[in-house]
This record gives sequence, C-alpha cells and structure tokens, in this order.
Amino acid sequence: MQARGLLIAAPAFILLSGCAPACQTSPLQTIRPGPSYPLTAAIREKARADYLASEQIRAGIVTEGSTQKKMIALSFDDGPHPGRTEPLLRALSHAHVHATFFVIGKMVVRAPYLIQDEIKQGSEVGNHTYNHIHVTSLTDSQIATEIFEDNDVIRRYTGEPAVLFRPPGGRVSWGAYRALRACGMVTTLWTDDPKDYVNPGKPDPAQQKLLLERLMKHLHPGGIILLHDGILDTVAILPEFIRRVRAQGYQIVTVTQLLLAKQRAESHSALLASEQPPREQAMLQRVERSLGSAPAIRVAPIHRRLKLT
Ligand SMILES: [Zn+2]
Repeated sequence: MQARGLLIAAPAFILLSGCAPACQTSPLQTIRPGPSYPLTAAIREKARADYLASEQIRAGIVTEGSTQKKMIALSFDDGPHPGRTEPLLRALSHAHVHATFFVIGKMVVRAPYLIQDEIKQGSEVGNHTYNHIHVTSLTDSQIATEIFEDNDVIRRYTGEPAVLFRPPGGRVSWGAYRALRACGMVTTLWTDDPKDYVNPGKPDPAQQKLLLERLMKHLHPGGIILLHDGILDTVAILPEFIRRVRAQGYQIVTVTQLLLAKQRAESHSALLASEQPPREQAMLQRVERSLGSAPAIRVAPIHRRLKLT
C-alpha cells in the first residue's frame, strides 16, 4: 500500500481525443492523489458504472447519462463560427433538437449574437475556456482566469454564466479538476468521439458516410456525443443521424437534461441521505439556476429533494 499514490495517479489521468491534432501536444501531468470521493474508478472506466449516477453532478465531473434510458446528448465544441453555426442551428431547429454548445470566449466576442441564437433555439451553452487552452498546462489561478473570462462573456450575452465545462482536448488532471471544481464548474466529458474534426474544410461525402457509421455504431443509452461547431460534414449528416437515432427509439436532449433524467431514473436515496457540503450545495444551486431557462425541465421537485436553500 505504500505505492497508493502512484496507483491512484496512473488511471486518474484523462487523455481523450476531442480536438484538432494541434491541441493534443501538452505533456502528461503529474497527478497527485485525488479527493476522497470515488472518482478514480469513474474516470478509468468513463463512469460506466451506474452506481455513480447522481454522484456525477455532485462530484463535479460528468461522463454519461443513464444507461437505462434511451436518451443521448449532442455536444458541439469550439464555436461559435459565423457562417457555420447558423446552418448548424437551422438543422437542429428543423429537427426540434436542443444541443449543448461548449463555446470559446474569444470566438464568442467576435459573434456574440450566435450564442444568443443558441439559447433562443433552446440549446444550452457550456464553457470551453476563453482561449481554447489545455487546462493541464495551467496553474490554478490561470485555470480560474480562463473559466471566469469565458463565463463573463457568456453571462454578458446570455444573462447566465455556464455551469458545464468541457476541457479542450479532453485533458484534465486531478489538480486541474480540483481547480475547476473550486470554480463551480461541472467538467463534462463524452462517451463517443466520431472525430468529425479531421475534415474541417470542404464537405466530403466519404467522410460523411464514415461519420454516420461511426456514430450509429457507438450509439447507446446515456451517450454524450462529441461533435464540433464549424464542421460542414457534421451539419450535412445531422438530419439523417437524428432520423436514425429516433427510429431506434432514442430521445435527443441537452447534457443537463440527460443528467437530470439520470437523477430521476435512479435511486436518490444516497444523495438524499447525505449532507451536502457548502461547495456542493452552491454548485447544485448553480446547476439548478441554469436550468431555469430550459422549459422542458421541472426544477422544483429536485430543489425539494436536495433541500437546497
Ligand atoms: Zn475544443
């Protein structure tokens, strides 16, 4: 047991391929033993275990929804992109689908109306740092700066800061995770990355066919799918993908709705029985507040169950 720290450290590092190759070059980080809640297994197995159900929001890290419900969430990173976000939103609106957009602050300030359009369309907006930088390469205070600067512009144009956070490149370490949690963010990973970013240029029918095949192959209840705003192939396949997903009986929701459905679907007893430490309480309140604008969600019962003040 003397090597306990090391045993915890090895699987705790998350390395997922969520961004363009250019942002996948930061060195591995040294991981210190983590906090006392059971996150290590969740990260190693991408939290497939259902027992972590409602602990995801409480623990500040999210990997998937309930595997018992035929629901998935579509997430779009790296926007907004003037000229490309609009057709994406039109495709979503046409199919009556709400998504989760993880936006980059420096992109938002160039076209703030686009995140307003995202909210108006019924989608939700999450934080993807101000400069699209790996949080594992930053100090705690630099992480806070990236988070709050992005949230400042999100709040300026939508009225509310984001609660969900998607780490650029999918890179997070225990140290970065704890800093993010201290900022009140819920780190949101994914279950499926079809790699739509490999062809950011002209639409390519062969790539579209491949994307669709990959997406359908990995479709499963509770999935959080990583896509990117600004990719023409993604917009092109969206109507057909949505049609096929629904034909299999799936509902497509936002990440927040996916998490709430998970909470509802599974036992709340452990969550209800436990005392919520102040920081978790504040974070849950922020999650709840962010849901105020999502019309499909009934927030009040959850407030009562969690005894939030
Ligand atoms: Zn990104």
